[in-house]
Amino acid sequence: MAPRVSSTGTPRIEEARSAMRVCIVGGGIAGTLLAWRLAKRPEVDVHLVLGERYGQDATGASGGLVRAFEPDEASCLAAADALAELRGSATLARWSGYREVGSLYVADRPPAARLLAEIDARLPGSAVLLDAVELRRRFGMAGLPGTAVGVLERHAGYFSPDRLRLNAQCDLLAGGVPLTVGRLRRLRVDGGGPTGGTTGGPTGGTTGGPTGGTTGGTTGAVTCEIGRKQLRFDVVVLAAGTWTERLLVRNGLPAHGLRTKLIQYGLYQVDGPRPPAFVDDTSGLYGRPGDGDTMLLGLPSKRWNVDPERPSPQRAAAAAVQDAAARLLPAMRLVRRIRATAAADAYLPQGRLALRPVPGPQANGRLYTFTGGSGGAAKAALATSAVAAAELLAGARAGARPHRPDLPGAPNVAFGAPSATNVTFVASATLNGA
Ligand SMILES: Cc1cc2nc3c(=O)[nH]c(=O)nc-3n(C[C@H](O)[C@H](O)[C@H](O)COP(=O)(O)OP(=O)(O)OC[C@H]3O[C@@H](n4cnc5c(N)ncnc54)[C@H](O)[C@@H]3O)c2cc1C
Repeated sequence: MAPRVSSTGTPRIEEARSAMRVCIVGGGIAGTLLAWRLAKRPEVDVHLVLGERYGQDATGASGGLVRAFEPDEASCLAAADALAELRGSATLARWSGYREVGSLYVADRPPAARLLAEIDARLPGSAVLLDAVELRRRFGMAGLPGTAVGVLERHAGYFSPDRLRLNAQCDLLAGGVPLTVGRLRRLRVDGGGPTGGTTGGPTGGTTGGPTGGTTGGTTGAVTCEIGRKQLRFDVVVLAAGTWTERLLVRNGLPAHGLRTKLIQYGLYQVDGPRPPAFVDDTSGLYGRPGDGDTMLLGLPSKRWNVDPERPSPQRAAAAAVQDAAARLLPAMRLVRRIRATAAADAYLPQGRLALRPVPGPQANGRLYTFTGGSGGAAKAALATSAVAAAELLAGARAGARPHRPDLPGAPNVAFGAPSATNVTFVASATLNGA
C-alpha cells in the first residue's frame, strides 16, 4: 500500500478523492480493529484518532479471557467467530500473545444445545459439557448447586487485548494510515439539525480536501476538532469506550443508553492446583492462570456511572474475592495479592459491542458509535469489527442513509486476515446487534 501519511503524521491533501473518508475516534481494541478492517478496503480512507488514555483504558486493563461460549446467542457466535479467526492466524495469535490454557464456564443450568453446535461448527471438538460431579473431580470445584453444568473448552484461554491493538496500530502505520495521538474535542455535521453547526460550505483549516466524491454520493461531511486541527470526514465512528457517552453529550447528541461501570480484579500468588480460565456464573467469580504461580481473580462490581478518569478499586472487593475463591476452589490457597487492576467499561442494555448509528437529525446519518462492550468485548472484537466494517460500507453504498445495523440482513463480507496462514474470515450476517 502506498503511504497515505505525511512526515508530520497528518493526511495529505489529495487532488481527486474518490474514497470514503472515515474517522475512527478511539484507539482501544474496538476502534483499532475497526480501523484495521477498513484499511484493507480500497474504497475507504481511514484515519484513527487514538485519544490520550493509553494504558488507562479498558483495553489496557482487560483480563483478556477468550472463549467461544456465552449464554447470549449473538455474543456466543461473535466470540466463537473471533476465536476461530485468532486460532487460525499465526500472526494474530502472536500479535495478541494468545495462550491456550482452556476455559470453563459454569452455570446453574445446561446451555442451549444449538449454542454448542454453533461452537462445534467453528471450533470442532473444543467444547464439552461437565456436570457438578465432574467439575469437582477434575477441577476441585466445590459448593456448586447440584444442577451446575460446565462448558469446558479446549481451544480457549487468554490473550492481551493491549498487545493486539498495539500490533494492529503498527500494521496500520506501516500501511500509511494516519494515526493521531490526541483527542477529538468537538464535531459538527454539515446539514445536521439544531446542534449540527454548519449547513454545508467550506470549513476552515481542513487537511482533508474537498468533500465531494463520497461513495454514497452525498455532499455532507463531519468536521472534527482534533487537538488544534479541524479535519473533515464523510463518516465518523465514535469508539471511545467509556468516554463515548461524554463525547456525545458534549456535542448535543443522544447517548442512547450508554453507561459506565467499574470492573476490577486482583493478580494473586497462589498455592495448589490452578483451574483453566473460568467464569462461575453461580457466584460471579472469574479468573485465569497467569505466569508462574499466579492467578487473576475478580468478581463483578455494582459500581455504575464511574468517572472514566478515576476508576479507583473498591477495597471490600478483595475480601469478597478471597471468600468466593475459598468456597469454589478450596484446594487453591491465595498466598498474597500482587496487584489490583481497576478500569471502567462502557455498558449498553444490549450487552455487546456493535456499530450503531447515532439517531436524530444532528447526526444526519454520518455518525456512528462502536462501543458498549459491557465488560466482555475483547474476546469478540475481531469478529464484531469485521461485521461493523461491512455494515459501514453497506451504509455508504446505500447512499449514506441512516441504516439499521441492529436489524438482520447485512450482507456477508470477506475480509483478509494477516497473511501467515492466509485464512479468510467471513463475517456472518447473523452477528448483527440486538
Ligand atoms: C478490568 C477489565 C477487565 C476486562 N476483562 C475482559 C476479559 O477478560 N475478556 C473480555 O473479552 N473482555 C474483558 N473486558 C472488556 C474489554 O476489555 C472491553 O470491553 C474493551 O477493551 C473495550 O474496548 P474499547 O476500545 O471499546 O474501549 P477502550 O479500551 O476504553 O478504548 C477507548 C479509547 O478511546 C480513547 N478516547 C477517549 N476519548 C477520546 C477522544 N475524545 N478522542 C479520541 N480518543 C478518545 C481512549 O484514549 C481509549 O484509548 C474487561 C474490561 C475491563 C475494564
